[in-house]
Amino acid sequence: MSQATLSHSNGSVTHVSSIKSFTPSDIGRIIPAQKAKSLELRLSTAKERITKLKKLKNVIFKYQTEIQKALHADFHKSAREVDISEILPTIGEINDAIKHVKSWMRPVNVSTPITLLGSVSKIVYEPKGVCLIIAPWNYPFHLAVAPIAAAIAAGNTIVLKPSEFTPNTAAIIKTMLAEIFQENEVAVFEGDVSVSTALLEQPFDHIFFTGSTPVGKVVMEAAAKHLTTVTLELGGKSPTIVADDADLKLAAERIMWGKFLNAGQTCVAPDYVLIPKAKVDKFVSFAKEATEKYFKSKEDKFAENPDFCRIINSKNFGRVSSYIDEAVKKGAKVAFGGKLKADENFIAPTILTDVPLDAKIMEDEIFGPLLPIVTYDHLDDAIKIINDKPKPLALYIFSDKAKTAKYILNRTSAGGSVINDVILHLVNSNLPFGGINHSGHGSYHGLFGFKAFSHERSVLQTPKLSIVKLMYPPYTGFVKMIVDSTTRFFV
Ligand code: NAD
Repeated sequence: MSQATLSHSNGSVTHVSSIKSFTPSDIGRIIPAQKAKSLELRLSTAKERITKLKKLKNVIFKYQTEIQKALHADFHKSAREVDISEILPTIGEINDAIKHVKSWMRPVNVSTPITLLGSVSKIVYEPKGVCLIIAPWNYPFHLAVAPIAAAIAAGNTIVLKPSEFTPNTAAIIKTMLAEIFQENEVAVFEGDVSVSTALLEQPFDHIFFTGSTPVGKVVMEAAAKHLTTVTLELGGKSPTIVADDADLKLAAERIMWGKFLNAGQTCVAPDYVLIPKAKVDKFVSFAKEATEKYFKSKEDKFAENPDFCRIINSKNFGRVSSYIDEAVKKGAKVAFGGKLKADENFIAPTILTDVPLDAKIMEDEIFGPLLPIVTYDHLDDAIKIINDKPKPLALYIFSDKAKTAKYILNRTSAGGSVINDVILHLVNSNLPFGGINHSGHGSYHGLFGFKAFSHERSVLQTPKLSIVKLMYPPYTGFVKMIVDSTTRFFV
């Protein structure tokens, strides 16, 4: 059992096990208790849900310093980056739910066809029930707590399984949630894959999974056994097209920010860049300038900068760094960066040019601070490269012409897109955040998160006198006339 440390704001340090002891009896106790509680929560009012969301917000602020320290202990993430990419978006989601949950919960009246004359139709949002949330390590706080906020807004009970690779963050989330919720409402199961596997055997009412595409398939298969609904927030290679008419300096600045945030370990990081051949040198020079400005140092000193986080573990360090060697062997050039420190799992921000399409770095999701640049002659060639791969979670377009952006949007498919920037679509909770096929099923954020954890139930209230009765058997000539005229004139 490995040990990790948790530093507290008062200077004390707790040792937490990266794999917590776990017994099947925990599942046997908690899931039935949550089932019972979920029946009670079906009746919860907007006011009660808002109270819980406010408690969640307050407890996050109370533990903000501990959260920052936990993420630093887990993978050297700087306090500012924790604030920007973990705390701020989570509070944003909670505030949005606090502001809108009352209207989200309201039944929606819809029109009724003439065949049901006199009836009233509405969509009622009911909580799904007992929900399992499985979270990844790359934004271990936000990707665990933001779905919890949506599930609370929708009136559910929650079992959370955080990632075993960020044990300090998992521990602080557990402490924080235990302070405001009983385990029959929100329970945290720390641990590794075996814990996930045991939980996935249970008949949950919904599973919300954020993680890799291969594990997404495992989750979907397990859910199928109980016909449990799933939301799958997966990964993949998110391409960035820099068009011939793009502002190169702006493109380089924004792509480098998005690529090197969290050391490239972001599901919607720009994975690779497609750019016209003639523009590569200028783009690389702007990219170097921007990166050196962000990390306030020349490329050989990035490791000393406290704002650049590390690769999560030695396994991923080995995987990501091997992409450089393999691509170089196949003819790629390291145009920038390339420095490694294995003892710290450090990989410097790196740009690779002349990358062949059959290099491993162009097949796998990189999930590290490497930016391969692939050139194209015609825009259609770039579009073909994208369409030859599974549909991505995000696709970014840099172009000064609306016509060019529209041309690309119309010919490609992706979970989401940003024109002239990267990543920022997920900041707007009025936009659904999710993938398509290999990059995910379903979406969340704002109303979409509330809907992910709700069942849209159809409710039709009929009058005593119903014209449908005219179509009941026996099927006389009169019934035929009614059906024929309804089919021709009224539907
Ligand atoms: P992962 O799929 O390895 O693990 C995610 C979670 O699933 C962890 O809690 C882990 O314990 C559990 N798990 C792992 N293997 C399992 C198995 N066989 N059965 C059951 N559970 C299992 O993902 P990760 O490495 O933690 O995260 C990185 C991946 O997540 C990347 O592919 C990234 O693109 C994706 N991601 C997607 C989003 C999104 O919003 N779409 C956000 C962040 C990360």
